[in-house]
Amino acid sequence: MKRWLIGLLLVAALAGCARPKQAQRSAVHQAPSAKAAASSKAVASRRSSEAARAASSSASAANTKAASAQAASASASSASRARDAQAQAATLPQGTNHNARAAAYAHPAATVHAEMTGRLDPSQPKTVYLTFDDGPNLTMTPRILAVLRQAQVPATFFVVGRQVGPRTAAMLRREYDEGHAIGLHSQTHTYGFERTGNAGATAWEIDQSLAAVRRVLGVGFVTHAWRYPGGHMSWAAHLAKPDAVVAAHGMSWIDWNAASGDALGRTSPTTVPAMLAYHSRSLQAYGPHNATVVLMHDAPDKTTTLAALPQIIAYYRQRGYQFGVIA
Ligand SMILES: [Zn+2]
Repeated sequence: MKRWLIGLLLVAALAGCARPKQAQRSAVHQAPSAKAAASSKAVASRRSSEAARAASSSASAANTKAASAQAASASASSASRARDAQAQAATLPQGTNHNARAAAYAHPAATVHAEMTGRLDPSQPKTVYLTFDDGPNLTMTPRILAVLRQAQVPATFFVVGRQVGPRTAAMLRREYDEGHAIGLHSQTHTYGFERTGNAGATAWEIDQSLAAVRRVLGVGFVTHAWRYPGGHMSWAAHLAKPDAVVAAHGMSWIDWNAASGDALGRTSPTTVPAMLAYHSRSLQAYGPHNATVVLMHDAPDKTTTLAALPQIIAYYRQRGYQFGVIA
């Protein structure tokens, strides 16, 4: 193939790699009264990722053509691609929400759900589950991952489907690769389906967020952990039908019985000592259980949570807790 044609194909490939901007609205917990723009943005976001996939696939087609022109390097290049594909297949989830290493400390969501509300059995171990809602994002997720890696403890990330896309895919993969678990926290992080107790809307939120994660981690991704935006406790009176939908999807809803207080708006602690004090008070308020599930948030403005995280980890480590993830 002529040099100029190869050049043209490469330019086309690079142009195809430009991803459409994806909506990155921070999906932090808000007061239920704050209505967030919902389905139209979700649809736009969905279209963006479809467009990106189409662009990506045409880019790789162009790459393939360019590579085939160079006969000498073609076989080496295809062998390398095959190795990459093999390595990726080995790391993709197969019926789980965590990697093989994390299986040693992964506990079924139904068990965690029962233990976090049940009476403490002192003969059984105490396990803490650090949980981070609302990600992934490009600014806070890597900082949380760095702290967790430094402390060598795992966490469970309850991700929002529309936060998951080409821009944040690498963050989601890192969560999985670094031994953490992934739960679902709805597609839109809007509260309408909870306020109305609408079964169809609940199913849509679950299915869409599951599909978003599967587009990144593969169809083998399965999670049993579901967290309602705002928590089940905020909407319990309306959730008979949504709860049935969650159960029909093979999932258990997971609230929390410890908190950092980082989603209270203007009353959230703004210093590390204040956050640690809030955390201690929350433990007293919820009482002792074999499973302690700590609510924290993975959003760009949660800098106090990030700063307090090493001491929150130390609190449980000093008291002999095991660190688990929710499967
Ligand atoms: Zn949330």
